[in-house]
Amino acid sequence: MMGEEKRAKIKQTKAETKARREGKVARVYKIKVDRGHLSKTRYYHLKMLFVEAKWLYNHMVATDTIFTHDYKQKNVYVKNKDGEIEERWIKHLSSQMRQSLVDRARENIYNLGKVKQSGRKVGSIQFKSDVFSVPLKQHSPKGTFNVVSKNRIKLQGIKTPIHVRGLKQLGEDPDIANAHIVKHIDDFYFHITVYEEPKERKKTGKQVGVDLGIKDAVITSDGSKFKIKAQETPRLKKLQRRLHRRTKKGSNNRYKLRKQIQKEYTKVANKKDDIANKIIHKLHEEYDFIGFQNESIRAWQSGRFGRSVQSSILGRIKSALKRSETAVMVNQFFPSTQECPVCHEKQAMTLGDRWYYCDCCGYSEDRDVKAAISILNEALKIAGREPISLMPVEGDASIDTENSCNHSVPTSVYPEKQEANEFIRW
Ligand SMILES: [Zn+2]
Repeated sequence: MMGEEKRAKIKQTKAETKARREGKVARVYKIKVDRGHLSKTRYYHLKMLFVEAKWLYNHMVATDTIFTHDYKQKNVYVKNKDGEIEERWIKHLSSQMRQSLVDRARENIYNLGKVKQSGRKVGSIQFKSDVFSVPLKQHSPKGTFNVVSKNRIKLQGIKTPIHVRGLKQLGEDPDIANAHIVKHIDDFYFHITVYEEPKERKKTGKQVGVDLGIKDAVITSDGSKFKIKAQETPRLKKLQRRLHRRTKKGSNNRYKLRKQIQKEYTKVANKKDDIANKIIHKLHEEYDFIGFQNESIRAWQSGRFGRSVQSSILGRIKSALKRSETAVMVNQFFPSTQECPVCHEKQAMTLGDRWYYCDCCGYSEDRDVKAAISILNEALKIAGREPISLMPVEGDASIDTENSCNHSVPTSVYPEKQEANEFIRW
């Protein structure tokens, strides 16, 4: 029985934690378990966490007990390879881990119900062939996990702490909330959620529009270009060829090759994340205001694989901008390519036209830079701000941006602060 006093104390601690995390942002760090320091028994223990999590889940699905299952129960019933029901014992998952897994299953069903209510089609609950993560709720010396030093994490059920890499990223005295232990191919990771003070960004006073539709680059309204080329690794191509030609279905060699291919895919994915993160970081560092367009990534012309790689990098950038507080999104139907940012007349443009020239007012600019400028001005309009003024370089031919055209023709027109530089090359 839990005493009144103890209950009151828990309530108080919860309130304090909530107050402490007010205004902070949650960030997830991926910390890799150091396989070099992992003994065979430890490796087996970690592996079994995921196997038992699968048993537990499938047991609840088979017996229809997701909402009634008692997490204290240690025996579960699973179907073996021959289709017979077998009793098995959970030996590696701690009781708090089991509880979190049961809670997670309930939450999933609850969310599924909500989706169903909204009228969308929902499949029935399926058995899982694999479970890839186990929630670790409480971070404390007696909790499910505890960060004990700069390179070790204590996991409930394993006596000595596990060696990991990358904990330094968490900084001094991190406010750790919870974690997941995650299995990926042959490796294990802790995904640790940490509450941090939001980083104060230096005000630069600069605003930018970005055009995401270009085939191998992201172009900004001030003429900067971020290359986004990432190549499929030659090794991946080789492995894929070998998989199709030389191995039999179900063979051990095929299984091994599949694992190697998964590893190569992870490498490419990491590379893509890295490129997208660098661009996003640079944009946020340089500018206080970012305009972008919610466009579907345009028709691609170049190579097969490169195409998908680049579009997925652009997709990553777009979704990060959607989450950003300083970015404003322009509707996908806004004619960023056709409309003149000075007189607002529209010009017909084909994919091959690399230069924009306005027949009406004479405004002229690189096609992609112009699109980014138009996107910036539209975003500024949405945010209720002044659009950037596009001043003729020579003469004082002031341009009436409201009326359409009978303008004198300026020789060339640039945004006021043009700093064309190419800060990232790949
Ligand atoms: Zn014009």
